[in-house]
Amino acid sequence: MSFDYDLFVIGGGSGGVRAARVASAEGAKVALAEEYRMGGTCVIRGCVPKKLMVFASGYGEMPEEARAYGWDIQDGDFDWLPFRTKLNSELNRLEEVYRSLLNGSDVEIFDSRATLADPHTVKLATGETKTAKHILIATGGHPVRPDLPNAHLGITSNEIFQLESLPKSVLIIGGGYIACEFACILNGLGVEVTQYYRGAQILRGFDDEARGLVAEAMREKGVNLHLGTNIVEMRAASDAENAQILTSTDPAMGGAAQDTAALTEAGSGSGPVWVKATNGQEGVYDQVMFATGRSPSTSGLGLEEAGVAVGRRGEVVVDDYSQTNIPSIYAIGDVTNRVQLTPVAIREGMAFVETVFKGNPTKPDHELIPSAIFTQPELGTIGLSEEEAREQEPVDIYCTSFRAMQGAFAGKSDRVLMKLVVSQATDKVLGCHIVADHAGEMIQLAGIAVKMGATKADFDRVCAVHPTISEELVTMKSPMRSA
Ligand code: FAD
Repeated sequence: MSFDYDLFVIGGGSGGVRAARVASAEGAKVALAEEYRMGGTCVIRGCVPKKLMVFASGYGEMPEEARAYGWDIQDGDFDWLPFRTKLNSELNRLEEVYRSLLNGSDVEIFDSRATLADPHTVKLATGETKTAKHILIATGGHPVRPDLPNAHLGITSNEIFQLESLPKSVLIIGGGYIACEFACILNGLGVEVTQYYRGAQILRGFDDEARGLVAEAMREKGVNLHLGTNIVEMRAASDAENAQILTSTDPAMGGAAQDTAALTEAGSGSGPVWVKATNGQEGVYDQVMFATGRSPSTSGLGLEEAGVAVGRRGEVVVDDYSQTNIPSIYAIGDVTNRVQLTPVAIREGMAFVETVFKGNPTKPDHELIPSAIFTQPELGTIGLSEEEAREQEPVDIYCTSFRAMQGAFAGKSDRVLMKLVVSQATDKVLGCHIVADHAGEMIQLAGIAVKMGATKADFDRVCAVHPTISEELVTMKSPMRSA
C-alpha cells in the first residue's frame, strides 16, 4: 500500500517539530499540521514568554539593591505595553525560526487543524485528507478552568501574555508551578497578588523543606498566599447585585478589595471580578487567573474513529516506545500526560524517530529529570525529595540554609537552601534541591553528577569554587539528620 507520507505529525509544538525534522533528516517524507502557531505551548504561551516575564519582573528589586552597592539610582515603574509589544515581536521571530527550520528540513507544513480518520488517514480542516504510514500525535495540552459558575470570567496562562493592560490586583487560583511562577512574576511587576491554594502547601510533590522556603519567600516579597483556601463563587463586579457587596467588603481583605469608583477605571480583559472564598472572605480583583491544571488536547481528535485508546484523564495511552494500541499511531509530549516538560517532549520525539525510522528501538528516559521552578527565588530539583527517599530506604540529609552574600550585603533577608538526599546504603546522591537565585542553572549542572550516579564522596572530592552559593554543595561535611 502506498501512502502520501512516511510520517504525518499532528501538532507543531516542542515534540512534534523536533520529531518531524529528525525523521525528515533520516530520509522520511514528512508532513506536519499545526492549527494555531508554530512552536506550540513552549514558544507561544509557555516557557519562553514566561521566562521573559520572569526577567522583566526581576528588575523591580534591582534599584534598591544597586543603591546598597553605591549606585545613585531611582525606582521606576514597569510599563506593560512596550514590554508586550517587544515580547510579541520576539515570539513572532521565534515562530518564524521554527517554520523555517521545518521548511529547511523539507517538512511539508499544513496550517490547519488535523484529526484522525483511520489508522493511516488524517483529515485536515481544509477538507483535504492525507495518508501516512505512521502518524504521530503531538497535540500537547491546554489549561482547564474549574467547574464553577462564571469561571469564564477568569483567565488562564493562555491569556496572561496578551493582556490589554497590567491589572492592579490579581487573584491566582492554584498551587502548582505555573500558579507560583505567575504569582512571583506579577508581584515583581507591581501587581497586588493574592493566591489561593486548597492544599496545605504549594508545589505538591517537591521536597517539603524547599517548597516551605519558596512559600515563605513569596510571602516576604508580598504575595498574599492563602493555603487551605479555594474559590467558591465568582461574578462580574459590575453586576448591580454586587455593587452593594463591594461597598461593604471585608476590611480584612486589605488592599485587594477596592471601592466601586476605583473598579470602574481599573481592570482589563473581562473586568473586575467579585470572588468569595471557602474561608468566607470576599474581595474584588482586576483579574482572576486559574492555574488549576492542564489536560491533554485530545477532544475531537478522531481517536475513537482510529481506534486509539484514551486514558482516564483524556491522555493518549502509549507504551514505553510511545506507541499507541494502533501500531501505525504514536504519541509524544504533553498529550500522553507523562512528564509535562519541553525537553521531555523533545526527547520523546527523538526516541520515536530512533525507534521507527532508524530501526533502533529506544525508550525515552524518564528517570532523574532535572527541572526548575522560576519563582523568586528559583527552585531547582532532581531526584527524590527527602519524603520520597525515606519511604524507600534509610537516608542522610545534608542541608544548609543561609543568606547569600549578594543579598545580605544589600540588607535583604532572602535565604538560600542547598540540600542533598543521600542513600545510607550506597552513599549515592538520590536527590538534590536548591532554592536560590539561578537555581535552574545550578541544577542543570548538579543534575549531570546525580544522573551519573555520583556519591556524596564524589561531591566531596570536588574542590569548591569560592565564593559562590553552589560551593555549599561540595562542602557539607556532616548530615543534618538521618531519616
Ligand atoms: P505543545 O508544545 O503544547 O504543542 C502542541 C501543538 O499542537 C500546539 O501548537 C497546538 O496548537 C497544536 N495542536 C493541538 N491540536 C491540534 C490539531 N488537532 N491539529 C493541529 N495542531 C494541533 N516546560 C519546561 O520544560 N520548562 C518551563 O519553564 C515550562 N514553563 C511552562 C509555562 C507555562 C505557562 C506552560 C503552560 C507550560 C510550560 N512548560 C514548561 C511546559 C511545556 O510548554 C510543555 O511541556 C511542552 O510545550 C509540551 O510540548 P508538546 O509538543 O507536547 O505540546
